[in-house]
Amino acid sequence: MNRFEEYTTQFVQQVGKKEGAVSPAIINSASFGYGDSETGEGIFDGSVKKPLYSRMGNPTSAQLEQILAAMDGGIGAVAASSGMGATAMATLSLLKSGDEILSIGGLFGGTYSYFSETLTRFGITTQFFDVDELEAIEAAITDKTKIVFLESVGNPNMRLPDIEAIAQITTRHGVVLMVDNTITPLSIKPLALGADIIVYSTTKIITGNASSLGGAVVFRVINEGDDKFKGERYAEVHPFIKKMGAMALIGNAKKRALRDFGMSSNGFGSYLTMLGLETLPLRMDRIVSSVEKIALALDREGFVINHPVLPSHPHHDRYLKQFSQGCGTLFTIDMGSKEAAFAFLNHSKLITITANIGDSRTLGLHMASTIYRDFDESVREFLGITSGLIRVSIGLENPDDIINDFSMARNLSL
Ligand SMILES: *Cc1c(COP(=O)(O)O)cnc(C)c1O
Repeated sequence: MNRFEEYTTQFVQQVGKKEGAVSPAIINSASFGYGDSETGEGIFDGSVKKPLYSRMGNPTSAQLEQILAAMDGGIGAVAASSGMGATAMATLSLLKSGDEILSIGGLFGGTYSYFSETLTRFGITTQFFDVDELEAIEAAITDKTKIVFLESVGNPNMRLPDIEAIAQITTRHGVVLMVDNTITPLSIKPLALGADIIVYSTTKIITGNASSLGGAVVFRVINEGDDKFKGERYAEVHPFIKKMGAMALIGNAKKRALRDFGMSSNGFGSYLTMLGLETLPLRMDRIVSSVEKIALALDREGFVINHPVLPSHPHHDRYLKQFSQGCGTLFTIDMGSKEAAFAFLNHSKLITITANIGDSRTLGLHMASTIYRDFDESVREFLGITSGLIRVSIGLENPDDIINDFSMARNLSL
């Protein structure tokens, strides 16, 4: 049985049409004629549900958005030009100068520089925490804390957060919990665990074949009665709640980020993303099995592997209990030195050396000389980047072929 059986029917049925063209229609028009001025007025005031202009939403992307919202139990989603575009949209739609972010775990290099350098220039500060510093995280929440940001799996430190425990803290304090679920779509359902907003880079395993850069933000419903977004902390969202009720976060993101910053998706990219998405449950299931098998086999052969399936990993129990459907496509290998890491990557016949992850092919990259080259030693240490560290993203190849290739490459590099 596939680990993600519940999605296998859903995705293929939602992507294809029963009548006319089966494959989704690619609508790449930047603009849309309104027909008459009354309709134009209705589109702008929201009473007529027709496309306005592609920066604000595209019909092909709208199909993708519906599928992603249903996947995570959200009220809606907004597609973006990239994963960073999605993170920017989700955060900028809530933040103002003087606000604070608490960032837990991870952290993807682009998100780290966005928080630590770019947002700092606009007067927004971020404090960074390890996944297990729950008391320090709770103590750091102030009136100015707008977003608690969490990566579902440390990339590349492979540490696993207790998402439910962190959600209990954010719920207690009425603060938004935003989860970057790029590495673990399907296997982790952040909204069900108590998160409010999910960001995805669809570039990775969701599309799964390097054909399209993209991202998406999935939003939860605004609850009738009590809701943290109705508190004083989120006063800027209140006009949207008044006008759009349950759907307020969609309007807020579109009008306060997408319209003004333009991190918009495009029809062709969303089309390619849907073609990937319809096979996501099959690919995820295969890769999660392969990752576990390969990590255990290489560990037995004496490789220094970091993955929570290994009993020696500090979050092994959490992996078994809370990540029972796996934690995505990644593990890391510490080769001990930059030279050994380069030799291993160069000798491998299967690895594609690239900064991407979540592909049909097995990918690998030496961390310190690439994504983390501009980071201080102390930051690298916090993020777990040692000099010989290689991040591997397992693909769809036969797992025994991968194990044999890695053993061969290591023997040649010693
Ligand atoms: C790749 C990635 C991003 C950024 O996505 P892009 O599509 O490259 O902009 C964000 N978060 C995580 C965890 C990622 O792996």
